[in-house]
Amino acid sequence: MRAVVYHGANDLRLETLPVPLIGRHELLVRVSVCGVCPTDIKKIHYGTVSPPRVFGHETAGTIVRAGSGVQGFKVGDRVALHHHVPCLKCHACRHRAFAQCLHYKRTGITAGFEPAGGGYAEFVRVLPLVLPGVVKIPPRNSFLEGAMLEPVNTVLKAVERLSPLRGDTVLVAGQGPIGLMFTRLLTLRKVKVIATDLLESRLQTAAAFGARSVVRVGHPQKPTAATKGRVPVSKTRVRGEASLATVVDQLTSGRGLDGAVIAVPSKEAMREAQLLVRGGGKVLLFSHTKRGDLAELDLAAICVDEKDLIGSYSADFLLQREVARLVFSRQIDVRRLITHQFPLEQTAAAIGLASKPTPDSLKVVVNQQLDCTV
Ligand SMILES: [Zn+2]
Ligand SMILES: [Zn+2]
Repeated sequence: MRAVVYHGANDLRLETLPVPLIGRHELLVRVSVCGVCPTDIKKIHYGTVSPPRVFGHETAGTIVRAGSGVQGFKVGDRVALHHHVPCLKCHACRHRAFAQCLHYKRTGITAGFEPAGGGYAEFVRVLPLVLPGVVKIPPRNSFLEGAMLEPVNTVLKAVERLSPLRGDTVLVAGQGPIGLMFTRLLTLRKVKVIATDLLESRLQTAAAFGARSVVRVGHPQKPTAATKGRVPVSKTRVRGEASLATVVDQLTSGRGLDGAVIAVPSKEAMREAQLLVRGGGKVLLFSHTKRGDLAELDLAAICVDEKDLIGSYSADFLLQREVARLVFSRQIDVRRLITHQFPLEQTAAAIGLASKPTPDSLKVVVNQQLDCTV
């Protein structure tokens, strides 16, 4: 079979690998669609893990072989896969910190080599430990929609951690594919979303996804000696348009934001959000995944003003059904987020585009059925 093999930093090669053999409690899935995810992009760009591996973990396809011990699935089922599943028994799982569970940290899907997702290959082997993460795709839904279950799950998990009340006002900073998912899922909960981005095109999609207000922000300014510690909120606005602070004031009658999601790896956005959140509100970091990334913070804002600073990473297994319902009913219509599709042999180009988005690009996927209707 054809597979895109990682051989080190920025070294991806289309190669021929044997179709994986499966065990009694395993599945073989022919991959149709695999989303390009920033976490894989980072590993490929910086070469942070040892080669060789086949990446790609937002995978949807068709079961072509099922071990005799597998129950509930058969050859021909169209499925979406989750490459991590928690044990639900350990100390971390009892605290619902699934992403910290050792069982969860093991990747359970492979196209060969050390399991790394394998979605950038024609076939993947699904190991027993992630069988509970296999979800059937209803006949009316596409593989493209199936491949979006995992990223939508990570966003719903974060929304749960933010736990906004109906009628609350929440800022979503950054309207890439993830930010737009936040905008939509929060809107479905009757939360008033203020969406910000540098790009007008993304703000239009945010408005279509239900954002109550959109604000285009300028390029964040580097802090100078004079502004250090004080965030130049007004300087981040685009001339002639209402500033974010003004919009927050108007929508909350001067009370401040109930919460903020930082879906862009910007410290300025985080500091600004911390200022705009009311006492007792929450700031949730979703994109600050780089280790050693330090920031100065007013700690009294957390201690005295009780502005919680929280994070969220990866998916929540217990939300799988709810995510499938939201995606497959199209209450969140993920088809609008997929702007670019590449065939398997152009996986490197797909990753290149996803890592340097253009004004018209959102979610990028590798689609092995490009000439069929999916
Ligand atoms: Zn992902
Ligand atoms: Zn566990």
